[in-house]
This record gives sequence, structure tokens and C-alpha cells, in this order.
Amino acid sequence: MAEKKYVYPFEESYGLGKELLGGKGAGLAEMIHIGVPVPEGFTISTEACTLYYDSGKTIPEFVRNQIFEAIARIERSTGKTFGGSTNPLLVSVRSGARVSMPGMMDTILNLGLNDVTAAALAKETGNERFALDSYRRFILMFTNIAKGHPRTDMDKMLEALKEERGYKLDTEVTTEELKVLVAKYKEYYKTVFGEEFPTDPKVQIMEAVAAVFRSWDNPRANTYRQMYGIPYSWGTAVNVQSMAFGNKGETSGTGVAFSRNPGTGEKAISAEYLPNAQGEDVVAGIRTPLHIEELKARMPEVYEQFVQTITKMEAHYKDMQDMEFTVEDGKLYFLQTRNGKRTPAAALKIACDLVDEGVIDEKEAVLRMDPVAFDKLLLPGFNKDELAKATPIATGLAAGPGAGTGAIAFSAEEAEARKNNGEKVILVRAETSPEDIVGMVAAQGVLTMRGGMTSHAAVVARGMGKCCVCGCTAAIIDEEKRTLTIGDKVYTDKDIISLDGSTGKVYEGAIKTVEPDLTSGYFGRLMGWVDQYRQLHVRTNADTPRDAKQARVFGAEGIGLCRTEHMFFAKDRILSMRKMILAETVEEREAALAEIEPMQQADFEALYETMLPFNVNVRLLDPPLHEFLPQEEELVKELADAVGKSVAEVKDKIANLHETNPMMGHRGCRLAVTYPEICKMQTSAIIKAAIAVSARTGKAIEPEIMVPLVLEERELKFVKNIIAETADKLIAEAGITMNYHVGTMIEIPRAALLADEIAEHAEFFSFGTNDLTQMTFGFSRDDAGKFLPSYYDAKILEEDPFKTLDQNGVGKLVTTAVKLGRATRPTLHIGVCGETGGEAKSIEFYHKAGLDYVSCSPFRVPVARLAAAQAAIKNPR
Ligand code: PEP
Ligand code: MG
Repeated sequence: MAEKKYVYPFEESYGLGKELLGGKGAGLAEMIHIGVPVPEGFTISTEACTLYYDSGKTIPEFVRNQIFEAIARIERSTGKTFGGSTNPLLVSVRSGARVSMPGMMDTILNLGLNDVTAAALAKETGNERFALDSYRRFILMFTNIAKGHPRTDMDKMLEALKEERGYKLDTEVTTEELKVLVAKYKEYYKTVFGEEFPTDPKVQIMEAVAAVFRSWDNPRANTYRQMYGIPYSWGTAVNVQSMAFGNKGETSGTGVAFSRNPGTGEKAISAEYLPNAQGEDVVAGIRTPLHIEELKARMPEVYEQFVQTITKMEAHYKDMQDMEFTVEDGKLYFLQTRNGKRTPAAALKIACDLVDEGVIDEKEAVLRMDPVAFDKLLLPGFNKDELAKATPIATGLAAGPGAGTGAIAFSAEEAEARKNNGEKVILVRAETSPEDIVGMVAAQGVLTMRGGMTSHAAVVARGMGKCCVCGCTAAIIDEEKRTLTIGDKVYTDKDIISLDGSTGKVYEGAIKTVEPDLTSGYFGRLMGWVDQYRQLHVRTNADTPRDAKQARVFGAEGIGLCRTEHMFFAKDRILSMRKMILAETVEEREAALAEIEPMQQADFEALYETMLPFNVNVRLLDPPLHEFLPQEEELVKELADAVGKSVAEVKDKIANLHETNPMMGHRGCRLAVTYPEICKMQTSAIIKAAIAVSARTGKAIEPEIMVPLVLEERELKFVKNIIAETADKLIAEAGITMNYHVGTMIEIPRAALLADEIAEHAEFFSFGTNDLTQMTFGFSRDDAGKFLPSYYDAKILEEDPFKTLDQNGVGKLVTTAVKLGRATRPTLHIGVCGETGGEAKSIEFYHKAGLDYVSCSPFRVPVARLAAAQAAIKNPR
């Protein structure tokens, strides 16, 4: 049987795809195919990387042989010899994963140099300095990357030499001095590794290839993968390519080019050029590149070919390209091309422009937008120049996007009071609770020490589009002493800090913020296409008219989750709520509820009116009641006075309500079962509000009433009966007809498994993936952030399951429930309202699972619309 192929010459690999060749390898093959000048070479496939790890981090003999055969092939076609004393072949060895991971993995240049080949190179180019400089760089890279030894000492040797001679630039170092430096580097290598620097290029290349494979597993690559959800199993390919020398003299040089401006999207080549240099000088920031005009001035014909080739490549790839090029003795080579990274604003302009130029169609334009970066278009960000100058003092979770600057406020009341005095504040809390809402509204941003991506602070902040950094463990927050300590520095309410909610970084001092530009027309145009192609509806999770209005601006088609509990924390309501909780008898409880009902009704009226003509889905009270009671002595006393009970009685009640595990305790529809009067009051407020708004506007309102945490059909039936009795009576009394819908959240695994029975009593399902994930994994959604990083490090999990749906496990419960539910009730309306409802990959899953809508916080609505359109374009259903 023929041996499996792991090594592909560029000329033979066109069309074999990125999965096998990596992005760079596939790109090089394609460039050759369309006639771009590319130095000869070959790709060692991503499968070889997997094989390397599967073989205990060794490269099997037959792969080795394939590599040597491919080198022989380059030798034949270039007439150069690997390790030759005349016309030596030198190569670069570079990583190249399926998707580009800029700067994350390793590259080795000038491989093949030793004393003999360096001398030959010097002789043949007539440039001994260049040969020695290349040799010096290679020894350094080999030591550092292939052997994993820090480069500091070698860098210091060069720096010391430059200082001694008073040189500013590397290029000032003379040939004789380089000779000495090379000898010193080799000596150093021998001291560190106890052996001579390897002279055999075959040994060099095998070490280098293994080093690139190893770099797939280095910490920065692992972090990058986690950030962008790139699976570990993909592996990286390795590209070995004949070197093109940009440092051969004044008719040589190197540069990078974008076919359009990556910052603004403007249709103009944006490029930099550095004469007499290798790419490494530019990347490492050793020398500052010059404007591309420099190339035009020095070598106009080369420049002409450069512009033509870039235009050809962009036309071929139908997207903005990011390219590396080298000029060797007046001959132009392109070393790589890829679809260029760009700011979200540039992405938008480029996509629209390409449609106008007839290069891509509208569907393709929609697919081109990166949902992960999309919401950055909607929020204020930091002024780029100021941000570039700032150094972060700590990093937490990027929990709520946007940017915020302000003085530190240590409590919600303080934040509100200082805001009312015209001050900009950042609310800094050890963790936030629902009581902090007023402070969160008042603040420019929120910083917490504890809590994960679905902690209260994070969920609420995202809902409001508020910048939030949470779980920032380096920030020690002492709310009593009113200090924030980071490292040795203590900050007080006099200090100003800045938060970048998109990166999780915390900065000292003020950084100017800038508002997004949504008026230029590109955004509206793209969203028009998005709405044309998507099949999922997008609703919002909103509890206030303010959020609902914001969501409408962003294109929400109704409310998928109104968490009524958030409405009880307002100053004028919390007391009635507390009275209700402390009530000893049904009558007492009903009296307190009667105080709350008109307020709830007013809230619902405002929501219905804001959302017309779309539906509003109101969820019955969900959290454990103790969350509404005060903790501090003073507040307990205040409450006791207000309700005419003793402090001891109130404390007793608070102690009574204490639960060891409240998230699995007396909450959700359990509250309606034990206190039907709460359910009655809420139903009454929902229906009366609908009757009032209907009468006022002349428009039909169809309230949706959602029962949380259901686990059993008899439980839902019990609660539904209370709802129906109350609602039907009110509707009959009003003498009108009104459709209302009762459904349930699916957020307990048992409910998903018994969805066919539950659907007997539910007109709709809404997946609450926050609780469903919590209960399926057995991870507390508030605390999992503490140990999840170890799970990422150990490669047990690759992503936060509270943020991105766990398709294997929780996803199976979702598809099961959809199938069972619709078997009982084919018209069952199904949505999702957990945090995953606003995340692109999860949305694709929900589209495929046949859901009717997703619901997410207002600022996620545009992203969700985009993701829904992308899902529909990729998987028509
Ligand atoms: C959920 O559990 O996914 C949900 C939306 O409800 P909550 O976050 O309010 O528990
Ligand atoms: Mg829930």
C-alpha cells in the first residue's frame, strides 16, 4: 500500500483546502495557481501535526523522508543545494493553521546556514555582510524557537556591541563585527546545550518543524484559540519555502501590504516598505518601515508589478488581502496572502463596497461580517490613540462591551448621588446584587472582583449595553474601607479609572471615549439584507421601557423575556415587596400584593406600548424570596419599623428563608405553588395592562405569560389553572375578547426529557439555557468562572458553556424537547431566552434545531439578527 501523503509541494496542492494545508499553505498554492510570483516550497499538512502529537511528539520516519524528498525537488528546480558549498538552498519554516492566528506560533528563517553555506552565500552574492547577518539571525532563531531557549542573552550581545560602538541601527554593525558576533553566538549555544550548533541542515529542519508543531500548544496560541473558539484538534500545518532575501542591498527590501485600508475600509492600497531588510525587522519593531512611495521612487517597475499583482489577488480572492512581500535584487516575491483583519467599521464598508463593485452578492456580504466583533459598532469605544498609550493595571472578564471612564464609586447609592451631581463614575463592587441596579444605571461602567459571564453584574450590564469588567480577581475591593487595591496601589473615590468591556482591561486615569457612527448608511444597508435572509425572529430580554425602546431601535421583534423581579427593586416598591414576603397570613400577603399590582400594571402597560405591534412575554416571579430582604442591621430595623414588627421577628423570617442552595430551592414556579396569590396578582397586572393598552390604542394585545423552572406537567397545569381562572374572569368582566398565551420555560433537564407531557399544557417553550446549563452541568452559574479556566487549560472544555451553548449535552436536551414538544403540539412556538440566545454559534444551532426565535439583551439584538441571517444562508431550512 502506498504511504499516506503528509507533504505537498505548492505546485501540487492547489484545491486541497485549508483543513489539510492550513490557511497559509492553501494560500501559497492558490497564489502560484493564479500566477503570483512566490518562492518555491512545500506544505507539511495539519494531519502531520496531529500525527506528531499522536506519536508522542516525534515525527515518524516516513514523514521525514517525504520532507527530504520535497527538499530534493526544490534543489532540482532551483539548482540550489541544501547545505551546499556552492549555491546553497536556504529555507524559511513557518506555521500555518486553518485560520490565521497572527503572531501566535513560530517561524524560523534562513534555515540551512552553517559555516560552509554562509561562506558560499557571501561569495555568490558578493555580500559577506548580508551572509553573516543572516547566519547570526538564524543561530538566534534556532536557539530561541527550535530549542526553546530565551533570546535575551543573545539580544544583549548585539545591544552591548552597538552601545560600545555608538551605533543606533543594526545595519551599522560591520562585517568584521558580525563575524565576531556569530562566533560568540555559537559559543553561547555550546555553553547552553553542551553540544556544537548543528551544521547539518537536515538536522536543523527536523528540529524546526517539530518546534512549529509544538508551538500549536504554546500558552499564547492556547489563549488565542480559546478567545476565538478554534478547536485544539485542528493542528497547524508547516510551510517550508525557499528564502527570498530582502536584505541583499539597496535593490532589495521587504514589506507588508493591505489591498484596502484595514482601519477605515477605504479602497486604496495601504502598504509599508523597508529597504535592505528582512520581514522580521518589521514584525519585531526593530526598524520602522517607510511609506510604500519609497519603493515607487527606488524601483518604479517593481512598484508597477506590485500594484498589478495586488489588484489581481484581491479580484481573485474577492476580499481585502493582507500580504507580505520581498524584493530580492529587484525581483518581487509575495510570501503570503490572507483575508486581512479589519476593524468592524472597515468590515462593514468593505462588504458594502464589494457588493457595489459587483464582486460579491448580498448574501456573501452578510457572511463576511464577524458576529464576535459586530456589537463593537454599537457602543462607545476608547479613542484609539489614547488607548494605545495607556497601560492596563488589571484584567478581568470582558463581560459587557463598550468603554467607560469615571471616578470610583463604591456603592449603588453613591454612584447615583454622584451622577446626579454631574460626576461620571465607575461602580466598583466585590460583586453586584439586584439591589445595585440603580448604581449600574448611573455608572459609566461596572467593575467587580467576583462573578462570571452570567453573574448578575454581567447579565444586567449586557442587558443595558453597559460596559462591565467582572471577575477581576487582581482588584481587591474593600467596600467598607472604600478602597480598590491593585498590586501595591490603593485607589479611593478620588481616583479615576477606565474600563474596556470588550477586552476586560482596567486602566488608571481617564481615557477619552468616542460615540459609534451608525448614521453613515452602511449599517442600515447591511441590516436590510440581514432581515431579508434570516428565518429566526429576534426578540429581546427587557424589563423596562428604556431597554425595550433601545431594543426596538436595534430591531427587536418583541420581548422574549421580561424578568418581573427586576421591577421590584425600585425604591418605591421594595417595601411593599418586603411586606408581602414577611406576611404571616394570606390576607396580609394579598394586602401587600394589592399595593404592588398597580405598579406592575403600569410597567406592563409601558412595555406593551413600546413594543407594539410585537408581543411581550412576561415571566412570573422567579428568584428565591430572600434576595429581596435586607442584610444590613440598619435596613432590617428600618423594615421592621415600616411593617410594624420587631427586629427579632424580621430577623427570624430572614433566617427562615435562608436556603443552603437557593438556586435549586424555593424559586420559580415553586413560589406560585406555595403562594398562588403572587401568581394571581401578576396575572391580573398582565391582563389588566393589556386591556387598558388595547382600549387606549385600539390595537389587539396578546400577552404571553411564562412559567419559570417547570419540571412536571402537573405542576404547570396547577399554575396554568390559576392563571386561566384569573385572566378569563378579568377578560369576561371587561366584556372583550383577548387572546393570551401560557407557556413555560424549559430550564430543568427533567422538563426537556418530558417535553411531550409538558407541551399538553404549554402553548410555547422558551429555553432558559442559563439554568438549563447550570442544572445539566451541575455548575453554579455564578461560581463556575472560578474553575472554568483550569478546564480550558486541561482541554476538558474549550468554551464557557453559559455563553456558548454546549451543543453535545445541553443541545441534545434542546433538540429532544423540540421534537417531543412538537409531537404533542405541532404549533408549539419555541424560543430561547438564556444568554446563549445572543451568541452566534449557538444561534446557528437554534436555527438548525427549528426554533422560531431567539431572545437576547438589547445590545445583542443586531448581532443575533446577523447570526440568524448567516445561519439561514449557510443552512436553508
Ligand atoms: C435562564 O435560566 O436561562 C433564564 C433566562 O432565566 P434566568 O437567567 O432569569 O434564571
Ligand atoms: Mg432561569
